[in-house]
Parts: sequence; C-alpha cells; structure tokens
Amino acid sequence: MIWLPVTSKELVLEIGSGHNPHPRSDILVDRWLYQDRERQRKVIKIDRPTIIADGCKLPFTNQSFDFVLCNQVIEHVEKPDQFVKEIARVAKRGLIITPHLLRERIFGWHYHRWFIDMKDDFLYFYPKKETQQTQFAHFIHVLYAHSYNFRHFIDSLDKKINIYYQWEKDIKIKISDDPEKILNIYDKKAGELLQQVTYSLKNLINQWASEKYERVVNCCYYWYEKIVRFKFRKVLKANIIKNLCCLKCGSQSISNKDKLLVCQKCKQTYILENGIPIMLNKHDLSKGY
Ligand SMILES: [Zn+2]
Ligand SMILES: [Zn+2]
Repeated sequence: MIWLPVTSKELVLEIGSGHNPHPRSDILVDRWLYQDRERQRKVIKIDRPTIIADGCKLPFTNQSFDFVLCNQVIEHVEKPDQFVKEIARVAKRGLIITPHLLRERIFGWHYHRWFIDMKDDFLYFYPKKETQQTQFAHFIHVLYAHSYNFRHFIDSLDKKINIYYQWEKDIKIKISDDPEKILNIYDKKAGELLQQVTYSLKNLINQWASEKYERVVNCCYYWYEKIVRFKFRKVLKANIIKNLCCLKCGSQSISNKDKLLVCQKCKQTYILENGIPIMLNKHDLSKGY
C-alpha cells in the first residue's frame, strides 16, 4: 500500500487505474474499458467517477488536479515524452511508479514497451525488443504465483526493483534507442539477486503474515476513503461532465444529448457508455476501448 502525500481536500487523478484503483483517487482514467490484454485479463474496477481516455490526450483543462498517480502504467505507453507532458499539464504534482529495468528483465512482461531506469532525477527509457513472453519469464511468473518464499524475496526488494518517481511541475525523461550496454550490466545484477533467494520456514511465515496484513490494511483504507468521500464522489460523479474539456477545441461547454456528449463549440461528439464518457479522438477510437 502506498500512502499518497496529499491532504484530504486535494483532488487526485489516477491514470491507468484498471482493476486496482488506489483508495484515495477521486477520478479514474483508463484507456481500456473492455480490452484486458494489458491488465492480465482482469476486469476494470469502476467504483468512482471514471473516464476512458488516452494518457497522451487527457480531456481536462490545465492544472485541474492537485495530484496525479500513475502506478504501473508508463511502461505501457507508446510515447512517454507526450504522456509526461500531458500529465504535468493537467496536474500540479504526482507520483509515477513503474518497474525498474531489473524487474522488467526478471518478469519480462511482453506487453510492456520500455525498460526504465532512474538516475539523477531523470527517467531513462529504453525500447524493449521482445514482443512475446519468453520461457524464462513464464517460469518466473509461475514461481511468483506459487512460491511464498520467492514472493517474499521479490516483494522485499520493492524499492530496488520498482521506481518511485515523485515530481512537481515537470517530469524529466530521456529516451534512448541503445539499451544493450546498460542491460548487460543489469542482467548480471539480476543473476546475483536471484542467487540470494533462500528457502526457509521463517520467510514463508513472514510472507504469509505480511500478505494477510497488507490485505487487511488495504481493505480498511479502501472503506475508510469510500465512507469519508462518499458524498464528495457522488457529487463529482453527477457533475463529471463539468470536469471535462473537448479534445478537439478545448471547450468546457459539453452537454449530454441522448447518450452522446456534444461539444457546444465545435460540435464534436463523444460516446457515453453506461454513464462513462469515452473521451477518445477518432484515431484512438478506431483501435477500440
Ligand atoms: Zn504493466
Ligand atoms: Zn470542441
């Protein structure tokens, strides 16, 4: 569980919330309503105001959020430079959590597009070449799912194999197209780390207890926010259209007409699917949602 550094009055946006939104997030954005390929076949959770949109083209005005959370999402994005510009446009500050290239190397998610590293306040992006899950990655996923000991070891490395990038105002990134040098070094390091896996009853009990504990804390936090923010979220949901702006002209005067959202200025229309605005332009809409 990550505690967000926000006050109770601040407005929090979460991008790529998928099946597991953070308890504190106020508005959820995800690219996919039905397609579940990039969230391990899990169903999207819609328990708060939710909008379908592309992270590179958000239907919000400048600085409309105090904080934006992007947890395990930037590694999926096609154009991270556009994505970070866009989230820094709509929010004042935020947190990006993403697999460090070491974790990416160990687990090898075939649908992730980047190896990511962090150095001196910069996020470095190296394009991934494999598009299929390797046999090694499959083995690691099975091991992680079935072995308390292995999971204990991996989870205990959290801060070493995940990047926590907190930012304010701007997000510094560099995109490289030559990943080979750096990856060879980290391959070695991954090998060394894997050798540290020890099998013990103590680890097994520790992991079992900490997973149960985490689940209880998570559940309490979820219900606490749900109860405390019930009224606020209800009002937000009823007025969700007022928070949106047109992708084409930027106008905030959008009205609801027969299951369609219509921009009053440029007449652009957007689908409203079971109350969820599908804020995608024509090109993105053609790829599905
Ligand atoms: Zn991912
Ligand atoms: Zn418009």
